[in-house]
Amino acid sequence: MTDESLSSFASSASSTLGLTLNYQPLDIAFVRGIGCHLFDELGRRYLDAFAGVAVSALGHAHPKLTAAIAQQAGTLLHASNHYRNPGQLQLSQRLADAGFPGRAFFCNSGTEANEAAYKVARLWGRRPGHGSKHRMLAFANSFHGRTLGALSVTANPAYRDPFAPLPAAEFIQYGNVQKLAATMGPDVAAVFVEPIQGEGGVNVPPVGFLAQVRALCRQHDALMICDEVQTGIGRTGYAFGHQFESVTPDVITLAKGLGGGVPIGAALFGSSCGELLTRGLHGSTFGGNPLACAAALTVLNEVLSPDFLAHIQARGAQLQSGLEHLFGPQTVVRGRGLLWGVQLDTEPRPLIEACLAEGLVVGSAAHQTLRIAPPLIINAELIDDLLARLRRALLRVPQTNPPKIPR
Ligand SMILES: *Cc1c(COP(=O)(O)O)cnc(C)c1O
Repeated sequence: MTDESLSSFASSASSTLGLTLNYQPLDIAFVRGIGCHLFDELGRRYLDAFAGVAVSALGHAHPKLTAAIAQQAGTLLHASNHYRNPGQLQLSQRLADAGFPGRAFFCNSGTEANEAAYKVARLWGRRPGHGSKHRMLAFANSFHGRTLGALSVTANPAYRDPFAPLPAAEFIQYGNVQKLAATMGPDVAAVFVEPIQGEGGVNVPPVGFLAQVRALCRQHDALMICDEVQTGIGRTGYAFGHQFESVTPDVITLAKGLGGGVPIGAALFGSSCGELLTRGLHGSTFGGNPLACAAALTVLNEVLSPDFLAHIQARGAQLQSGLEHLFGPQTVVRGRGLLWGVQLDTEPRPLIEACLAEGLVVGSAAHQTLRIAPPLIINAELIDDLLARLRRALLRVPQTNPPKIPR
């Protein structure tokens, strides 16, 4: 890729006629993928270390996922939630096998999953005989989605402020149990928490934090809603990110990797609140249709297959030590499993573009974070290749996090 084409990344595509202006895409179109590799229109090959924002859990054109989708497409795509849907039952059973037994509501995205959780939190707060629990707590740098309910518990002012007024929420420093304890009260309906904050900068909370959130929610009769949209489905080396601390939230929300690229979201409600969403209180036309369920079942079967989570943990450890070695001890590298952030001291865009020039797709998160989230099927050789490409990209932008020792 020429330097000229690199410098045109930011400007050319954003004026694409016919599309809204809310994205500013890089001027590169991926038209094909296989395994952990993507190909652009010119046939150039890239190692995918972003998985379309932690979505393509099984990589691209995975034979089992492709076959399941094709098989279901040739059988029945959709019938609606007016009829019993065996795929949804199977999928909820598989999610229970993964460690969260409960009642599942299926939808089409992460924000919808959180919207459903939010509505159940409202119902929880209005149970007869429990007073009026209406306060919603969340954490600074949280991201829960773009619809108004999910946005109201999303911290980023750039996302929130243009759409004020939003339903009220209170934000507490992520990881600060003392602050949370001081803010809790009998009028709190729910606490929204990500096991690791993805969009907010791949922020890993102190060990014990989730357990303490769990205890405080129990003490104050508030729902603990774990947003696992990014951390779920094996991403952190556990089926669900909260399992790192062996806590049981009241609600977990899923999307991103769940369908491996086919849109599907889910809100899972544990025994405390699983019966609150009764007839007519919520719904989705597409939610959990046979196609989406077939895809998600295939993804879960792979992620829950023997040794797969151990594979993610091993590849994660390899990636972590490679990143730490590459960036040097002055740079913070944080994450778990196959979700990693590197704290840059500049905006990530030049490095992301340099990576593309080296045939590597990486992403960013808030606060100058480089985000690396490859397909979960990545192997040891490709992790080495990822690190080698990243090393070469760093040589193109030497002003990014210069280490004291040469790279
Ligand atoms: C991406 C994300 C969402 C929103 O998901 P969409 O499918 O884009 O609506 C919500 N929560 C977390 C933690 C996410 O990473």
